[in-house]
Amino acid sequence: MSIDFIYHPALVPGEDSPETNTLYFLDSQLLLKQEVIADPLNVTPWTTESIAMEPELQLLLGQVNGSPLRVVQLPQCPPGWQETGLRDYLLMSADDMFKVVNAAAQLRYWLSTQNFCSRCGTPLEFNDSDKALTCPGCEYRSYPKVSPCVISVVRDGRKLLLAQNLGFRNGMYSCLAGFIEAGESAEDALAREIEEEAGIQITNPRYLLSQAWPFPHQLMLGYLCDYAGGDLVIDETELRTAGWFDIDNLPELPPEKTLALTLIKEAVRVISAEEAS
Ligand SMILES: [Zn+2]
Repeated sequence: MSIDFIYHPALVPGEDSPETNTLYFLDSQLLLKQEVIADPLNVTPWTTESIAMEPELQLLLGQVNGSPLRVVQLPQCPPGWQETGLRDYLLMSADDMFKVVNAAAQLRYWLSTQNFCSRCGTPLEFNDSDKALTCPGCEYRSYPKVSPCVISVVRDGRKLLLAQNLGFRNGMYSCLAGFIEAGESAEDALAREIEEEAGIQITNPRYLLSQAWPFPHQLMLGYLCDYAGGDLVIDETELRTAGWFDIDNLPELPPEKTLALTLIKEAVRVISAEEAS
């Protein structure tokens, strides 16, 4: 199924109508029908089905295949619907459907944290001319939040530096990553994060691609880079362990559809191509 999605250019609640598609949330959980979970590659997570329950939040996200698409947060799970985590849906869904859910989840989270003006305390209002919530008291505008992060696999010869975050619940190893500070370039952030977390210096950062990551509103900028010096000493407040792994003997890696796995696969491809030439 082809999904054509267009963002709505302003912030308006939208309305329930027979043509309107709605993506339902219960806090950060998606609400899905069993037919979506049974066939997530072919059945969209949004539906024209109306639910008779007063929403906690509602927003017109845009248009999907020519029809309006709303995001609605409900106070409880209606009978016949199932709560589904975003990560679980990411792993099962088609990329173009997840792209829409990704946008919806980020805007839902942001809206749920923006009730009052942070300057004067007046309740914020929707805005039909700009993609922002507006304060009727002081005209302050609150725009949707996106937090840029850098993520990279570091290469030394045919070995890759991979680490286990303290937050990982399984034995998976992944790339090092961190938030970009105010005033920093992405390349500055990459060098700082890797030195802080692993004690090593890098060189030759090459941007590969990015991924919007709705946990809750990151934009991950993916890089490959090379080892330049230093001994591996981990920051134990962030990492459980880290190590250099030969590309023929990699540990358990992140799941499909993650930018981390894409970066690791690209590093392996580059090294293998060099060795073959
Ligand atoms: Zn204000």
